Amino acid sequence: MTVTRTYLDHNATSPLRLEARQAMLAMLDSGGNASSVHEEGRRARAAIEDARDTLATAFGCKRDMITFTSGGTEANNIALKGAAVDRFVISSIEHPCVVEAARATGKSVTVLPVSQDGVVDLKALDTLLVGSDETCLVSVMLANNETGVIEPVAKVAEIAARHGALVHCDAVQAVGKIPVRWPILGVDLLTVSAHKFGGPQGIGALLAREDLELSPLIHGGGQELRRRPGTENLAAICGLGAAMAIAVQLDGKTKALRDRLEKALRSAAPEVVIFAGNVERLPNTCCFAIPGMTADTTLIAADLDGIAVSSGSACSSGKVGSSSVLAAMGVDPNLTRCAIRVSLGWNSTAEDVDRFIEVWEKLIIRHRKRAAA
Ligand code: PLP
Repeated sequence: MTVTRTYLDHNATSPLRLEARQAMLAMLDSGGNASSVHEEGRRARAAIEDARDTLATAFGCKRDMITFTSGGTEANNIALKGAAVDRFVISSIEHPCVVEAARATGKSVTVLPVSQDGVVDLKALDTLLVGSDETCLVSVMLANNETGVIEPVAKVAEIAARHGALVHCDAVQAVGKIPVRWPILGVDLLTVSAHKFGGPQGIGALLAREDLELSPLIHGGGQELRRRPGTENLAAICGLGAAMAIAVQLDGKTKALRDRLEKALRSAAPEVVIFAGNVERLPNTCCFAIPGMTADTTLIAADLDGIAVSSGSACSSGKVGSSSVLAAMGVDPNLTRCAIRVSLGWNSTAEDVDRFIEVWEKLIIRHRKRAAA
């Protein structure tokens, strides 16, 4: 018997949108090197610049501020390793590619704490920046991949500007879920990744102030204003542009679905803990734990029943590790082990949520029976 699959793991990766697929197929067929002067090259160049225009309009920034990269990881690495600063202040809930990139520079890295709800401590930021002669880059994500907490990045930028510090914002999880506007955020660098909003994997962008000194990670030709040399990934860039054009419209349907899912969880298991449930969160994300119901076994049982969700602490190897995000929020490790992340997306339906609720109610009953035995 084949089990119908219900995919609720869009924060890990979102399925490719039809429009992105079509744009990619067209460019795979037409080809061309965007640096060539002949017609094929000019066509490829025009397609890349169209995608750049789409992003510039979506984010409200200038087109020359956009550098296409191989994804969010590379964009974060360019931002952290390329910025001409003496030290970093990074929030305690950043993605490993921000943390590791900062550490790899060998420069001083200070951790900016978050509250129990996972929101960065703005007073602590002010204190960390005051009275230092060293140039500093502050890195705070716009929305957290595990809890969905939305960080007060515009306020971070205001405080940093008062102290002459630069700000980088990893907006990978926010794009396509909430408005992301360059002029409102006021940051110096911003990271985007296509596969989190229905574009292809392996493509992203770094938005950077045009006058910012930014050393490239790799060296070669003059592509992407020398910030990221190498022949452009034409099909992927066009897939990114096509997904962006739709994702920016923010249809807002996931919030009602997510809220219904949480209501059902609360009624099936009143002891459920919904992490950061009282602060501003992405409309698609629910990170929860039912005490005693460990994530590793629950995930396997749910998968067998056709539900794809993540452990709140899944690491890149796919194993259930210990979540540094929940640890930074001071969550008890026993509860962290029970953390499950559900993340909806552009193709999620009411039936998906019904199916999730049906399976979870069954798993909760099974868990209670085992616990009582
Ligand atoms: N930043 C955040 C917050 C993420 O969630 C991810 C991916 O999980 C990344 C960066 C890395 O992006 P990419 O997969 O495009 O390298």
